[in-house]
Amino acid sequence: MKSEHMVPSAGGLSRVASSSVQKMLDALSASFDERLSTNETVRAQHGSGESWLPAGRPDAVVTARSTQEVAEVLRVCNQHSVPVIPFGAGSSIEGQIHAHLGGISLDLADMNEIVSVNADDMDCVVQCGVVRQQLNEDLREQGLFFPVDLGAHATLSGMVATRASGTTTVRYGSMRDLVLGLMVVLPDGEVIKVEFRGPMRTSPRLQAVIDRLRSEVSALREDRSLAPDIARAAQLVTSGVLLEVVEIQRLVSLDEML
Ligand SMILES: Cc1cc2nc3c(=O)[nH]c(=O)nc-3n(C[C@H](O)[C@H](O)[C@H](O)COP(=O)(O)OP(=O)(O)OC[C@H]3O[C@@H](n4cnc5c(N)ncnc54)[C@H](O)[C@@H]3O)c2cc1C
Repeated sequence: MKSEHMVPSAGGLSRVASSSVQKMLDALSASFDERLSTNETVRAQHGSGESWLPAGRPDAVVTARSTQEVAEVLRVCNQHSVPVIPFGAGSSIEGQIHAHLGGISLDLADMNEIVSVNADDMDCVVQCGVVRQQLNEDLREQGLFFPVDLGAHATLSGMVATRASGTTTVRYGSMRDLVLGLMVVLPDGEVIKVEFRGPMRTSPRLQAVIDRLRSEVSALREDRSLAPDIARAAQLVTSGVLLEVVEIQRLVSLDEML
């Protein structure tokens, strides 16, 4: 895309023009005040994550606390053609949060309310910044748990965006199987709800920020036997524990086994 907002760079990709960034900063600074940061350290934290790929600092980091604020950020950035990268917990490992073309990192960690847990329907509604450990603490009291265990500190919306799966996915399914609906904010600030009558389907062309989501949860089995690795799982089974209640908690590399 060629536009006055972009400046050409190597590789055919364009970095957003500093004049557009400045207009965006001017437009957002009144509403966000100290939650709009251009601090070097904050930008570096939001542009590297857990990936081995080269980091890419955003021009600024904005922390949103409500649907209205997410909509405002998207509207303003859309108006000035400034890229927006939603930031959950930054645990993704394929460079998804690296801002190689500049733009804004939209930090959603403060939107971390567990809106409802419906034990009868075995589902829950959470805001985008809820992390899975936080949700599990809440669910435990009701004999429930959220079954996608990826062994990292991750938000539910980051897990939706990456369609995360984990060590218990064969038994309980991945995010694709569990998510029942989303509330998302489109680039022009419009808020829409999407429901899935089957596995979650999203298109790479759907450019939106997930504001909240509804997901299935599972019942905690009292007889669930957690094994830290395959050797322990084999021990449990040979000691008489039923194979169907044994769950392996992490992946084991072939090197470790051989
Ligand atoms: C030790 C370790 C183990 C891991 N194991 C697994 C594993 O077993 N399975 C697995 O699938 N992954 C695994 N991961 C990768 C990572 O945890 C997942 O990709 C996770 O889903 C990312 O969640 P996050 O909240 O950290 O998202 P982030 O890293 O913050 O973001 C990931 C992507 O989601 C987008 N995003 C975040 N929030 C929103 C939002 N509200 N709306 C729209 N887009 C959004 C971001 O823009 C980015 O593109 C592992 C990572 C680590 C460090």
